[in-house]
Amino acid sequence: MSTLLVDNIGELVTNGIGADPLGIRRTAAVLVEEGQVAWVGPSAYAPAADRRIDVGGAAVLPGFVDSHAHLVFAGDRAAEFAARMAGEPYTGGGIRTTVGATRAATDGELRANVRRLRGEALRQGTTTMEIKSGYGLSVADEARSLRIAAESSSETTFLGAHVVPAEYADRPDDYVGLVCGPMLAAAAPHAKWIDVFCERGAFDVDHARAILACGQAVGLGVRLHANQLGPGPGVRLGVELGAASVDHCTYLSDADVDALAGTAHSDGFGTRTVATLLPGAEFSTRSPYPDARRLLDAGVTVALATDCNPGSSYTSSMPFCIALAVREMRMTPAEAVWAATAGGARALRRDDVGVLTPGARADLVVLDAPSYLHLAYRPGVPLIRQVIRNGVPQ
Ligand SMILES: [Zn+2]
Repeated sequence: MSTLLVDNIGELVTNGIGADPLGIRRTAAVLVEEGQVAWVGPSAYAPAADRRIDVGGAAVLPGFVDSHAHLVFAGDRAAEFAARMAGEPYTGGGIRTTVGATRAATDGELRANVRRLRGEALRQGTTTMEIKSGYGLSVADEARSLRIAAESSSETTFLGAHVVPAEYADRPDDYVGLVCGPMLAAAAPHAKWIDVFCERGAFDVDHARAILACGQAVGLGVRLHANQLGPGPGVRLGVELGAASVDHCTYLSDADVDALAGTAHSDGFGTRTVATLLPGAEFSTRSPYPDARRLLDAGVTVALATDCNPGSSYTSSMPFCIALAVREMRMTPAEAVWAATAGGARALRRDDVGVLTPGARADLVVLDAPSYLHLAYRPGVPLIRQVIRNGVPQ
């Protein structure tokens, strides 16, 4: 069994327990063995290894955990983006455009698009990425979307309830029946999670509750799109069902924040339901950003994710989301980096990623910078020098 030593790390973000939330160590080294972190400590005490990478004083952090992405689709909606930037409002209706293109695509075309975007994200430091279905919206197209997603990630999410497809527009109850019945049966073998777009114009709270309960009954974990375009009951529904994450959280009432805070772990380490914020969506739809400060101050665990999709947030870049969170959502750089790594892991109920402590998966990002601060301080600059995933340099 071969070992790898990543040595001469000027600033190592571990997200382990320490004096600061990021568990920072200076002049450190990480020993990797069989794809896992085997040892973390001062460079001066580093054990011998078969192979050594000297990062020359650069900063190293855990690979990003992007817990919300829609990668299985065909086509793009650049013209819709241009129209929006010229003043047209975002309504979510463009999803149906992508559904048409996705249904018309071959398996090979969908697979190539997922791999292209997954590769793009990996080069920007994302070592764990959740992938949703939701542009098929028929039994066969949702099942193949998840089959293809599962080739690139173990974190796959069935989003048959993204919107009601055009052919069911005047009978949404029938569509909910299809999602809970044959579509869920075909999708579940390839999915770990179930998700619903709970929003005016998509699925109301009763439909969302019914669909998520059906998913839970066959063993899928719950996450949902909630309170993105306006206030509503989605966040409280997520709390009621024990969701791992409620995503977007742009329009929250005091009752929503209290409900999330009420899911606090008894050990004091954050909340069982995570609020996942997706600032790429607000950026790309020119909308008000969620109030991250209010959630953090209430003790709610916050994650950052890209929401990578061809309509409302066509970015795969976690560094871009970190920069937005700091500049536009008043998160500190440390809070944003934690949310993009350990926070994303919490949103996926994972404790083996998002941290660099012994036993964790050896997913490391080497920055072309001396500190994680540069991720927000130098927006738009390609700062990811090297990515190591599962102990393997990419
Ligand atoms: Zn989304």
